[in-house]
Amino acid sequence: MVHDVEEVFLALDEEIAVFKTRTSLSCKSGCGKCCLKPDIEATVLEFIPFAYHLYKQGKAIEWLENPSLSNALCSILDSNLPGVGHCTSYNHRGMICRLFGFSAKLNKYGSKELITCQVIKTEQPEAFLTAYAETMAGSPTPLMRDYYMKMYGVDWELSQKFYPINTAIRKAIETVLHYYAYREEEGVVVTE
Ligand code: SF4
Repeated sequence: MVHDVEEVFLALDEEIAVFKTRTSLSCKSGCGKCCLKPDIEATVLEFIPFAYHLYKQGKAIEWLENPSLSNALCSILDSNLPGVGHCTSYNHRGMICRLFGFSAKLNKYGSKELITCQVIKTEQPEAFLTAYAETMAGSPTPLMRDYYMKMYGVDWELSQKFYPINTAIRKAIETVLHYYAYREEEGVVVTE
């Protein structure tokens, strides 16, 4: 499951890289504003790689006791983190974190509509308007629906319900801990 989700992320990251090169749209260095939204929603499945990463480090149970899991803001966020972003586990961030800013949704007419942030719209207006028009005209842009469909294919149960981001993270950690607890109980040796 972890590997399958990472495969979806890899395909998405590659498609976004092509889109960014074509449109020259990019995040503002050091921004992280999108992570400061209090109502981010995510699925459990997209945080299974993060939960597995914690498990491998022996930090999964400790993270469940992390008080920031009850906050509205993402518990992986550290707005004091020095450097270009505020995500403390960027390689294991969720799919919503990857999609936001550089993907499209289908509008009620069935046309692709680019979804991006206010910072990009206001600080890169020309590139944004060009990318928006090109996307509407059918130019290749990562489509949110396509990637959620890929996740349904990995695990329907863990991918079709959206939760507040910290609830999704908590449930992902519990899922991984349960998986290994059950196998240890059954004396099953879990290989990589
Ligand atoms: S996982 Fe990282 S990128 Fe995603 S909302 Fe949290 S801090 Fe931001």
